[in-house]
Amino acid sequence: LWWISIVTMGKEDDMVYQDPNQPVAVRVKDLLSRMTLDEKIGQMVQIDRSVASPDVMKNYFIGSILSGGGSVPREQASAADWVNMVNEFQNGSLSTRLGIPMIYGIDAVHGHNNVYNATIFPHNVGLGATRDPELLRRIGEATALEVRATGIPYTFAPCIAVCRDPRWGRCYESYSEDPKLVQNMTDIIIGLQGEIPKESRKGVPYIAGKNKVAACAKHFVGDGGTTRGRNENNTIIDRHGLLGIHMPAYYDSIIKGVATVMVSYSSWNGEKMHANREMVTGFLKGTLKFKGFVISDWQGIDRINPPLQPNYTYSVQAGVLAGIDMVMIPFNYTEFISDLKYLVKHKVIPMNRIDDAVSRILLVKFTLRLFENPLADLSLVNEVGKQEHRDIAREAVRKSLVLLKNGKSENDPLLPLPKKVAKLLVAGSHADNLGYQCGGWTIAWQGFSGNNETSGTTILGAIKSTVDKDTDVVYVEDPDDEFLGSNNFNYAIVVVGEPPYTETAGDSDTLTMADPGPTVISNVCGKIKCIVIIISGRPIVIEPYMSSIDALVAAWLPGTEGQGITDVLFGDYQFTGNLPRTWFKTVDQLPMNIGDSHYDPLFPFGFGLTANSAVAARSAMSDGVATTRPYISMIVIFVVMLMIYQGKLLI
Ligand code: BGC
Repeated sequence: LWWISIVTMGKEDDMVYQDPNQPVAVRVKDLLSRMTLDEKIGQMVQIDRSVASPDVMKNYFIGSILSGGGSVPREQASAADWVNMVNEFQNGSLSTRLGIPMIYGIDAVHGHNNVYNATIFPHNVGLGATRDPELLRRIGEATALEVRATGIPYTFAPCIAVCRDPRWGRCYESYSEDPKLVQNMTDIIIGLQGEIPKESRKGVPYIAGKNKVAACAKHFVGDGGTTRGRNENNTIIDRHGLLGIHMPAYYDSIIKGVATVMVSYSSWNGEKMHANREMVTGFLKGTLKFKGFVISDWQGIDRINPPLQPNYTYSVQAGVLAGIDMVMIPFNYTEFISDLKYLVKHKVIPMNRIDDAVSRILLVKFTLRLFENPLADLSLVNEVGKQEHRDIAREAVRKSLVLLKNGKSENDPLLPLPKKVAKLLVAGSHADNLGYQCGGWTIAWQGFSGNNETSGTTILGAIKSTVDKDTDVVYVEDPDDEFLGSNNFNYAIVVVGEPPYTETAGDSDTLTMADPGPTVISNVCGKIKCIVIIISGRPIVIEPYMSSIDALVAAWLPGTEGQGITDVLFGDYQFTGNLPRTWFKTVDQLPMNIGDSHYDPLFPFGFGLTANSAVAARSAMSDGVATTRPYISMIVIFVVMLMIYQGKLLI
């Protein structure tokens, strides 16, 4: 029997999971079979960068780190610094017995927005206005490259919420109120992860290579449907409504191979999603066959309210049993680890639940080829903020602009503007402020104001570089009567809107523009021909000012490339954007979405003028991709005519 024992010995030493030529499923099974309970539980833990260290990674077998909402300090902010930081933590993980690499995640939700000088794309609401899935793919590709350039293989994006009430502070993270449009925009996943081969098994994540990142469809499910748009609140809707409005984009994301799904803070009919086993395990993992990992939201488990009193062990039990695989803890990881261990030892949580969670996490790590390439190098650092990416962002800005009014009558269009005039006025708090232009989730969690935090072009800067050299551009934030009277302006560009905000800080019942916006509009418009540009994450109150405004453009939160706005304003490109949301007249109409019986908007969903059609709206669309519509109608007409011709259809 000596030769049998030699063969067996040989097999035992064979680390199958380390062999890149083995199928991923085989590698997962092999690795799982070698892991202790401590090693398994560690994989399920995601901690914040601020509490991470190589020793913590090693001693607790931590599976993941995140940079929650914020960047690293400015003094260590280059792409190379990021790579070094991530690698240092990774070395801690690699020094464990089994050498399982950790996965670092970040909120790159409109470009790599935590990193100085990265390309900042328009927030999702603006991308919804473009109706351009192919553009979304390119944005995904560029974002993946910039994220990878800093050594990070995982982004908590896209947010595929269907925001049904603009009072929600996260409405700008939603592509649209229309489920179909949100579905079409999930093509960003193809850009982030690569195009999934046709023969792939449904639900199995796909990530194409080392320039791609794992994506995360969030927040599952119904985050955009809470009452009065209250963040993290209750979505009251029947099952039919939940599946018809909030679920469709998850079908698409899973078909496109999305690697991870984040659970929503919100409740569905009073039950916290983080504790909803029927939806997370039953529907997402069962019915939809999702095979990647499910991640909790930041302290999402802590916010599961136990029936009687706060009890963390109960919350851990409820969350893990619901089907959460990786827990964004992010600080009290020792408590989580000991609670989960206790629950497993006492068979409250079965071992196969832990094995399911860990297998899914390992599956994503193997798919990302993290075992082969755990450490990033510096070869991509020049990708961050490079010109090609800024060009894509500029194109996105152009296509996201929605022209809502152009001149006071059909015969008197104001746009496009002439580049050569004697003197033009630029006014408003948002004209020369990159932070306002980028909105929340930029450099800092709540965004920033001013121009010094990152590089880009403000609208004022873009105007100055677009107009004729002889045109005198004068910027005054809030001009008074005396100033206006003493100057002879040909026209005024007034840029107003909302200040930056993120998550609950953005919840608003009033949806008014920031001061001094209303005063600037009433001071300037009516006296000088004025074009008002609104920088906001959602429709805001504009109806009372409409009669004094000559031309109105919704520019959403365009990001760093302000020239996208002047490209269109001065006629080098056409306006092509269509409203991704209904624009209300007054806030007491809310919630109001396309298809509602009481639909009486200021501008309907899908509205958008072209500069040479003064007031006539292009058709309001209920589907996602504007340009495909005429072709579809033509095909339908053709088929019907053919059937009539062949006698198959009797009229
Ligand atoms: C947000 C998530 C985000 C997470 C990590 C949470 O507060 O709800 O969307 O991914 O923080 O920053």
